[in-house]
Amino acid sequence: MNQKIIFVDSKISLFIKRDDLLHPHISGNKFRKLKYNITTAQEQNQSRILTFGGAFSNHIVAVAAAGKQHGFQTIGVIRGEELVSQIDDNPSLKFAQDCGMHLEFVSRAHYRQKNTAEALEFWQKKYGPFYFLPEGGTNELAVKGCQEILTQADADFDYICCAVGTGGTISGIINSALPHQKIIGFPALKGDFLPEDIRNFTRSKNWKLCSDYHFGGYAKVTPELIQFLNDFYAQHHIPLDPIYTGKMVYGVLDLITKNYFKKGTKILLIHSGGLQGIRGINKILHQKHQPLINYYD
Ligand SMILES: *Cc1c(COP(=O)(O)O)cnc(C)c1O
Repeated sequence: MNQKIIFVDSKISLFIKRDDLLHPHISGNKFRKLKYNITTAQEQNQSRILTFGGAFSNHIVAVAAAGKQHGFQTIGVIRGEELVSQIDDNPSLKFAQDCGMHLEFVSRAHYRQKNTAEALEFWQKKYGPFYFLPEGGTNELAVKGCQEILTQADADFDYICCAVGTGGTISGIINSALPHQKIIGFPALKGDFLPEDIRNFTRSKNWKLCSDYHFGGYAKVTPELIQFLNDFYAQHHIPLDPIYTGKMVYGVLDLITKNYFKKGTKILLIHSGGLQGIRGINKILHQKHQPLINYYD
């Protein structure tokens, strides 16, 4: 399949699965997560999809692009009222809007209510019926789509490593992994609510989370991480995103140097996409006069 080798030495073989190449705008795991939600919305004859996301959300961008491609009206409820005046400076929101997504900016307090019956009723009164996708797009159908990330061709790997946000992607991977395979998830954010969420979508226990590589929390980056991403690209010509896959790959390479994996281990990294987020992070780095990610514009 589309695995690319990173290195094989006497101890470890490391491959990466380029799910980021699935689609130019509906990137990586977001493509997987939307697949069965889109077909279900079509079966239900829905014309509108409403969802939630933050300022640089890969999910918002993917839903906007999928809506355009499949003929849905899309509504994105965005966290942060102040962003309404910054659309033109925000490449992710600008792209979503250009795809035809209607953006609704709400306060953080309002945003926090997003999954309550009251909030959904509020939006239904305003827009009429819609197909609802939660923040990050994780639901049963999303997990079903993510079960297609691993295929027969991946049967030989001992470990599968992936980035974790809401836990939908790793849940799909856990469900389709073979009994001899272990899954390690690298959360991109702090917090301990994740294991519970993953358990709700999965049965087997062949997985663990490694929480040592969030670099300060969600969407936080350090000069060391940026340097790593630029070096990794220079060496392997594989672009990683700074919010999810970059932290995961950093973590796996660090674990290898610490001899976490025994000799002969075959590891598969899942590149879940997210490269569009680089533009937003680079804007922030530029404002702080810090080095930029140099392989994406
Ligand atoms: C959204 C996202 C994730 C996290 O996926 P979850 O299913 O929410 O855990 C991982 N990688 C990338 C690139 C993403 O955009």
